[in-house]
Amino acid sequence: MISKYPLYINGQFIETPEKQNIINPSTGKVIAEASLASPAELESALSSARLAFDQGPWPQFSLAERKEFIFRIAQGILDNAELLASLEMQNTGKPIKETTFMDIPSSAKTFEFMANNFIGYLDNEELSVSSEARGRIIREPMGVVVLIIPWNYPLLIACWKLASALAAGNTVIVKPSSLTPLTVLELAKIIHKIGLPPAVVNVVNGSGSKIGQLLCEDKRVDMVSFTGSNEIGKQILQYSSKNVKKLTMELGGKSASLIFNDVDLDVAVNSSLTSIFLNQGQMCTAMSRIFVQEGIYERFLESFVQKAKRLKLGLADNHETQMGPLISDAQRKKVIAYIDKAKAEGGKVVCGGKIPENPELKNGYYFEPTVLVDVGVHSHIFKEEVFGPVVLIHKFSGSDEAAILANSVDFGLAACIWTKDLYLAQELAGKLNAGTVWINTYGMFYNELPYGGFKQSGFGKELGKEGFLEYVRFKSMIIDQSEEGKPLVNYWYGF
Ligand code: NAP
Ligand code: MG
Repeated sequence: MISKYPLYINGQFIETPEKQNIINPSTGKVIAEASLASPAELESALSSARLAFDQGPWPQFSLAERKEFIFRIAQGILDNAELLASLEMQNTGKPIKETTFMDIPSSAKTFEFMANNFIGYLDNEELSVSSEARGRIIREPMGVVVLIIPWNYPLLIACWKLASALAAGNTVIVKPSSLTPLTVLELAKIIHKIGLPPAVVNVVNGSGSKIGQLLCEDKRVDMVSFTGSNEIGKQILQYSSKNVKKLTMELGGKSASLIFNDVDLDVAVNSSLTSIFLNQGQMCTAMSRIFVQEGIYERFLESFVQKAKRLKLGLADNHETQMGPLISDAQRKKVIAYIDKAKAEGGKVVCGGKIPENPELKNGYYFEPTVLVDVGVHSHIFKEEVFGPVVLIHKFSGSDEAAILANSVDFGLAACIWTKDLYLAQELAGKLNAGTVWINTYGMFYNELPYGGFKQSGFGKELGKEGFLEYVRFKSMIIDQSEEGKPLVNYWYGF
């Protein structure tokens, strides 16, 4: 029997007549059926989230009570870790090792981190602004926040947003990608069980093109926190201009890894494989352009290709699998089209570039890890995000050229620098147009550190104090203190 996943609105699980099959991209099989929201369910989510913010208990709870709820969500995720890891694996096709050791524990950790820290981020500030007046900055929740989540880290990215939005006292409507709604809908069950008041968290499922505009335009929504592609991000900017709302935009990337002559070659190769092939390259921070200094370029390329060919593609539920399938057939077609275009523009495939022949994988959306060389800096694949297991390897001579190459695209999400010269690394990091720079490491996210891109990669932050404060509005209070209770403005007209 196929499991059914209802929507979660105003504290109730709602089955709708319109349903959608959820596919396991590793096998192509239907694994569940999720309800789809119609305009009636959206209306119900919008009105109940608004009411829960304006009149419900949640924003009025003491900070200690809120903290307790945030902790209980973290614990609920840990108590259900095995189920969530399996569900995320089935819905995204990510190897079970990744969902078990990365996605699920990290999701719980973000709630724990916010529970432990958010109270300190809400301290009001007292300022003496003049001899007659005292100023106070009050930190308040934004109100109703719509959270739009992509399919590459369905639970983790939802939890980054939820932990901050809830700790700050907002009510939310979560819209997961309609390809991958299962773990967020499962999280709704956890949230329901721990007794969060109704309509503080609502989850609506449906394709973005059908339900996104309604959510992002509505006057009752104060903020939209979006993670996804640059193309959809631009549409959301338009929708939200109708009624003017606060936005955060975590968009795509075309990140560069800069590898200098003095590195330990094995470490640099192994880490670089992870930086592009983890999650089949479907990472916003994928290092899809690797620049190697000329002294080690040939040796790096040879070792990288040799090891890329040995990566174990397999079914997602196998603990030995190193690479799973892409999310969908459409995503695989997009990847293939990019490779064809790159070849037409002079690029050369030196590894992969095709669908694997292994019959065990034939029903999934698998694609071989792919390495391209001789790609011109003006070609499409050099500048545009592929979002798949495809990397360009390029040569550079010195650090000035490395910085120019890294910065030569419109995106500015992340970068890596590999060298033993930490002085050079930090100086170079200062020149890079990237919101995150990893030095001699890759992909480590810390709840303490804000994460977010520059340029076309968007604006606003996730995580850290800065990410939390995105979900807070600042109110200035001015309290007159002049003697005899007569403020200065009293004298302006002087009656
Ligand atoms: P996407 O196509 O932009 O979709 C993202 C989300 O927006 C999904 O929930 C999608 O719903 C929804 N959506 C689609 N059309 C919409 C519309 N007209 N109005 C409102 N919402 C709409 O991105 P994706 O394909 O899921 O994910 C891949 C992209 O996300 C890549 O570009 C990647 O770089 C980016 N990403 C960025 C970060 C970061 O932190 N910077 C992290 C992860 C991913 P449906 O899927 O149901 O249509
Ligand atoms: Mg999409």
